[in-house]
Amino acid sequence: MAVVSRCSRAATAATTANATTAPTFAYLIRSLSPFSSSSSTFYPQNDLNNRNKPAVLGTLKRESKGRNVQWVFLGCPGVGKGTYASRLSNLLGVPHISTGDLVRDELASSGPLSSQLKEIVTQGKLVSDEIIIDLLSKRLEAGEAKGESGFILDGFPRTVRQAEILEGVTDIDLVINLKLREEALLAKCLGRRICSECGGNYNVACIDIKAENGRPGMYMAPLPPPPQCASKLITRPDDTEEVVKQRLRIYQAMTRPVEDFYRSRGKLLEFDLPGGIPESWPKLLCALNLEDREDKQSAAA
Ligand code: ADP
Repeated sequence: MAVVSRCSRAATAATTANATTAPTFAYLIRSLSPFSSSSSTFYPQNDLNNRNKPAVLGTLKRESKGRNVQWVFLGCPGVGKGTYASRLSNLLGVPHISTGDLVRDELASSGPLSSQLKEIVTQGKLVSDEIIIDLLSKRLEAGEAKGESGFILDGFPRTVRQAEILEGVTDIDLVINLKLREEALLAKCLGRRICSECGGNYNVACIDIKAENGRPGMYMAPLPPPPQCASKLITRPDDTEEVVKQRLRIYQAMTRPVEDFYRSRGKLLEFDLPGGIPESWPKLLCALNLEDREDKQSAAA
């Protein structure tokens, strides 16, 4: 009953917003609402010792009972959403779904949307809500057919309208807002390299911000590729200085309000990255009460 009323609310909102896109939204609604079974259900504990703990962490056990996590990663371009979402996805056994990757796959496929998307992405602009929801719906339906349940979304939602639609069709348990000092963001995007064969993400930037005027320094070591990837590295066409600056501006204008959307619902966990992966990963696990989980996985390996 609750799902039915949630679905009809979202459908009504979507239809009101744009009558011609209703079938696409219906597709998203169908894709998201059946997430219910669980093979590795996870309940974070209630004793999070974090000044920014969202209210939802205290009630998560009740809200997510019986299914896998449904989490969202927010954060500026270059902050490392993909890196941490992918690590958590491995740890928790839920799919990591990056809408940026879906857009890049569509671009590479030379399908009907390809040239339209190329122009938008290389200018650092956002793809329309309709297109992105269509790509996400198809990905969720394909996952569902393979028996996937739960998700960690990376790069979605990026507008308040996307957040409203998602909120209307499913319960997002937690939104992790990754934050990194602004000086580091541009350097991280410019240093990003991708293996054209395996898709692995690496970084050649060495970020070394000196302590100044009472602000602590910060060091992030490069993330070099393994030897088998070293000769196959490519740079994303939207990782140029001009386009990254435009993406950062668009983040401020379009996505910053999404943080408020989730903050006001008590779902936002603010996480300031203290440095590179070696410093940040254990602290993130601690903020999520997941240290035990990793210990058990390492012991079983
Ligand atoms: P970023 O490093 O800027 O976070 P992503 O890899 O997440 O980049 O996304 C790459 C591009 O794909 C974006 O600049 C945008 O054009 C498009 N895109 C990805 N997700 C969305 C979304 N939810 N809404 C609109 N456009 C999106």
